[in-house]
Amino acid sequence: MLARFVNSLPHGLSQRLTRLYFQALVWNQRTSHSSQEHHQYKTMDIKILPALKDNYMYLIVDKTTQEAAIVDPVEPNTVLKAVQDQGVKLTKILTTHHHWDHAGGNEDLVKMLPDLQVYGGDDRIGAITHKIEHNSKFNIGNLNVLCLFTPCHTAGHICYFVTSPEESSDSAVFTGDTLFLGGCGRFFEGTAEQMHKALIDILGNLPEQTKVFCGHEYTLQNLKFAAYVEPKNEHIKSKIEWSHQQRHDGKPTVPSTILEEKQYNPFMRVTEKSVMEHAKRSDPIETMRTIRLEKDNFKV
Ligand SMILES: [Zn+2]
Repeated sequence: MLARFVNSLPHGLSQRLTRLYFQALVWNQRTSHSSQEHHQYKTMDIKILPALKDNYMYLIVDKTTQEAAIVDPVEPNTVLKAVQDQGVKLTKILTTHHHWDHAGGNEDLVKMLPDLQVYGGDDRIGAITHKIEHNSKFNIGNLNVLCLFTPCHTAGHICYFVTSPEESSDSAVFTGDTLFLGGCGRFFEGTAEQMHKALIDILGNLPEQTKVFCGHEYTLQNLKFAAYVEPKNEHIKSKIEWSHQQRHDGKPTVPSTILEEKQYNPFMRVTEKSVMEHAKRSDPIETMRTIRLEKDNFKV
C-alpha cells in the first residue's frame, strides 16, 4: 500500500520519501533480516548480502580472475566489507531498477570506488555509466552476462543472466523485483502483457537449472498466496515447509531454480489449467492480470 502510494508520486519526491522511510527502518532494525550466505559454484561464487528490511544484494565473483560485480548495492558499507573480506576486485554495479531500495546506494558506492562501471536500463538510476537494453552483453572477468529487459514493475527493469564460459555449467539469474520466489513484482509501470512476456517468454525460457536470485525475501508471503490459488499443489506445500524452517533458522530462501518456480509460482503458471480455473479466465494474460489484482489485495 505504502509502496504503491510512494511510487505514484513524482520521481524526485518519491525517491526522497522512500529514502527517509528506509533510513527509519534501518534505524529501527540494526540486525540483519537473514544471515549472509556464500554459494560456491564451479566457476562463480555468489555471496548473498541481506540489506534493509527484506532486500538482497548479491556479490558475484568470477573465480578464475577474482573480478566481481554487485547487484543492487543499497548498503555500500556492507558491500565494501564483503569485497575486502573476499579479497576480490569489484568493477561493476548491476542495477535491476531505479527504486531507492535497489539503486539508492549507487552514488555513495561510486564515491568510495570511483572506477566502478554502473549498469542499468533506466535513466533514473543513480550514477549510471552503461545504459543497457535487451540482449546487451558484457563480462565479469570470464563470466558472461546477458541483459534481459523485463519492464512492468518499472519501465526500465533489467534481469541479469550470468553464465560460465564453459558450456552446460552453472547459470544464475538476478531478477530484482520482476520474479520473486513464489511471486512477482507489482505492476507499477506496466501491464499484464509485459509481465507475461517477462515470466513466460523470457525467464521461463532460461535453462531450468538456472539459479534464481531475487530482490526481496518475500517467499513465505508469496507461497501463502500460491497455496490459496492452487490448494492441491504439493510443490507449494513442501516449499512452504522448507521456507518456514529456513526463516526460523534466520537463513535466506534464495536461490531457487527456474524449474522450481515453474512448479509452485502461480505467476509462472498462468498457462496451467488449475491457475486459469482459479482466476476463472481462459487466457494466460487475463489470468496474470486477475491473480496480480487478487494478490495486491491478499491478506496473509
Ligand atoms: Zn521495486
